[in-house]
Amino acid sequence: MPDLLSLSSDIIDNARTDLPVNRVTQELSELAPGIAMVESFSHVVAFATDDGLVVFDATSPLTARAALRALRSWSDDRVDTIVYTHGHLDHVGGSPAFVEEAQGRDRAVPRVVAHEAVQARFDRYRRTSGWNQAINQRQFGWIRGWGIGETGPDGEPVPFLPDDVAEPDHTYTDHDVIEVGGLELHLHHARGETDDHTWTWIPEHRAITSGDFLIWNFPNAGNPQKVQRYPVEWAAALRAMAAKEPELFLPAHGLPIAGRERIGTVLTTVAGALERLVDDTVAMMNGGATLDEIANTVVVPPEDLALPYLRPLYDEPGFVVRNIWRLYGGWWDGNPARLKPAPDADLAGVVAGLAGSAADLAGRARELADAGRLDLACHLAEWAFEAAPDDPGVRTAMAEIYQARHEAEASLMAKGIYASAAHRGESRGDLRLGT
Ligand SMILES: [Zn+2]
Repeated sequence: MPDLLSLSSDIIDNARTDLPVNRVTQELSELAPGIAMVESFSHVVAFATDDGLVVFDATSPLTARAALRALRSWSDDRVDTIVYTHGHLDHVGGSPAFVEEAQGRDRAVPRVVAHEAVQARFDRYRRTSGWNQAINQRQFGWIRGWGIGETGPDGEPVPFLPDDVAEPDHTYTDHDVIEVGGLELHLHHARGETDDHTWTWIPEHRAITSGDFLIWNFPNAGNPQKVQRYPVEWAAALRAMAAKEPELFLPAHGLPIAGRERIGTVLTTVAGALERLVDDTVAMMNGGATLDEIANTVVVPPEDLALPYLRPLYDEPGFVVRNIWRLYGGWWDGNPARLKPAPDADLAGVVAGLAGSAADLAGRARELADAGRLDLACHLAEWAFEAAPDDPGVRTAMAEIYQARHEAEASLMAKGIYASAAHRGESRGDLRLGT
């Protein structure tokens, strides 16, 4: 059993970035008597009570069976209650496995507790199933073995939210105290990564389960493909958690953390980074800046981004800036030409004509890429591709430039979108890239 608390102490205290922190080992670790974590995607965090187990998050459809097996190596007690920290698929999608297990053993099925907005999220997922499949395909599809974007036996895409996901039985609005087998759970709602998040204070253990309020990466408050996120409330929630002075902190991704002071430092550092990003962005908005000006000015200090729990390996600060713009502004970026823009293909045709041809544009794109300006190269390659989508040379240039951009980026979200852009030519059968 790995000693996760010693590991996280070493990583935080010594600012180590040479060890993986977002592990999906499917192994269970007992963190204290009666408290265990299965490192999965998301984790399953379990508390023993006199009436059975309380489990935070049901992990994903792909990881639930192995996570449940790991849980059973620690306790055979029935699962009395599952708390969804929020309604993302990797936290609720594995719930059918828990229900099935209980039914298979003639036990009562677990009660599901969640914030009231989880149900609205499920409704939205059902309305936008294809869109959410497409997002996940772009974000994670280039990672082999994740089973994203799979089709069912009839060739139809599997629904984004499993039809048999366990719906919440008990919901609350702002905060709530529930008791399971003598263990009190103080549920707190806050918006952050989502509008339906629950963090829970468990006084008996001086422990907090935090869902995705801490993910051991720069907060993913900027996802380019998803609905609004809430960095101000996110930071406030982290400070509210720190104010409880927990001794044990249990996130749904990344390592658990022990020690009041260490936990406080991590929570207030992440909160401060978010607050500064919001303040700097809003100050420029108040001064009348455009999104372009803000996005090219506001940064997070590199020493913050070097911390083992703040690295921009999943989301990145630039995306968060755009999300803050959307929150307080609107979708228009301040460039008047883009208020009612010409169709992309029309603009691409005109630019290709100015350059000589789409092939000339693609050639210039390659030169810029070779000179290290992949950002400019992508614009030109995209215009070339839009102007001449059937030209094999243009398609190859476009694909290779996006593939190079994919390899040069650090965040999973940017990597995913560039990889899927590079692979657009593949269905034509004359282009095949490595990843
Ligand atoms: Zn998650």
